[in-house]
Amino acid sequence: SEDLLAAGRTAYELDRSHVFHSWSAQGALDPMTIVRAEGSHVWDGEGRRMIDFSSQMVNTNIGHSHPAVVAAIQEQAGRIATIAPAHVNDARSEAARLVAELAPGDLDHVFFTNAGAEAVEHAIRMARLHTGRDKVLSAYRSYHGGTDLAVNVTGSARRFASDRGAAGVARFFPPYTYRSAFHAETPEQEAGRALEHLEQVIQLEGPGTVAAVILESVPGTAGIYVPPAGYMEGVRELTRRYGILFIADEVMVGFGRTGRWFGVDHWGVVPDLMTFAKGVNSGYVPLGGVAISDAVYDTFTDRAYPGGLTYSGHPLACAAAVATINAMKDEGMVDNAARIGTEILGPRLRQLMERHPAVGDVRGLGAFWAVELVRDRATKEPLAPYGGASPEMGELAGECKRLGLLPFVSENRLHIAPPLNTTDEVLHEGLDILDQALEVTDAHAAG
Ligand code: PLP
Repeated sequence: SEDLLAAGRTAYELDRSHVFHSWSAQGALDPMTIVRAEGSHVWDGEGRRMIDFSSQMVNTNIGHSHPAVVAAIQEQAGRIATIAPAHVNDARSEAARLVAELAPGDLDHVFFTNAGAEAVEHAIRMARLHTGRDKVLSAYRSYHGGTDLAVNVTGSARRFASDRGAAGVARFFPPYTYRSAFHAETPEQEAGRALEHLEQVIQLEGPGTVAAVILESVPGTAGIYVPPAGYMEGVRELTRRYGILFIADEVMVGFGRTGRWFGVDHWGVVPDLMTFAKGVNSGYVPLGGVAISDAVYDTFTDRAYPGGLTYSGHPLACAAAVATINAMKDEGMVDNAARIGTEILGPRLRQLMERHPAVGDVRGLGAFWAVELVRDRATKEPLAPYGGASPEMGELAGECKRLGLLPFVSENRLHIAPPLNTTDEVLHEGLDILDQALEVTDAHAAG
């Protein structure tokens, strides 16, 4: 309506006067206004409806404005809107029970945080105290959050400006078959060589100094590359052999994104610590956490855990998590994510690769896919540089938006991550738009 659009224009002016934005030079910013959000759609400042293939920050797994979750937050707000973490609260207890029930193996204890980066900070603190070791091994091309330690553990270019080189972090190459660091030609070779490499890194860093290996179950922000069969099982085996804790970062893929409740479930792997956030309550209220194994939990039975947060297990966030998880179960959303990956997103994105020469690679699982754009399929030269943007990718993003599709754009990739309950009709509509938008990059591709 006209009122919404007028309010949006006021909001835009105030934003440009007073809001300081993430990861951006402030001067040239022209952020998009969202005036309405419902299900798998958002409406921009001109009232244009867009299909949300980004799930915002890959977190609105159940879509926008799910009535059961909105009602649960309203009910909780009317009863107990906030409470100190020391006091028992029914929303927090039930959220913890549900997370423990869904998490693999003996990850039965939950420390709640406000978001993903804090979950990573606390998982690493727990691992260091449990092992009495300091070093953390993390993967290149990873993203673990924007706080000081989490961004230092991060392996993508986002850490460059904050990398202190002294946070006790060493890095290794993860498997990435399309751009193999190991000159592998098959996923099997990639998995085997990546594991040999990781073992060498452990040995050369000194196994007795390494507290944890932290790894996204399916690396997300930095490129959505699904680990080849055998890799995650191998990491589990290696870390166990050297007495190192395995922290699986499930912040982006946890709670159904890949068509299983957790990414590690694809490989039957049980980590020692598992971080989550985003999808746990679809981002309706900020929430994250660490799921903790019995062995790590036991470290803190007689010894105080040195850490806490005013809002650990906030009732509004936990009530939203309970309602979200129940809605996901009731509506079969995780199975639906698996189905749309196999039946719609995978096949249709591969068709786009056949039709558009600038598409160099398509990969993913469930409702989590990357389309990687190149100037030349033979050289695989990316359409935007590592850690940067390009006019061509900007043009592609602009064309998607103009045609009514909101994608997630990073470097030379589009990430396709719609809500898990997006209807088949809307998915096809979005993919048709993507097909049309990709015509703008065809001109930039050789061959
Ligand atoms: N870990 C992973 C795997 C993520 O994808 C993210 C965010 O994208 C984070 C951690 C950080 O989460 P937050 O931004 O909620 O702090």
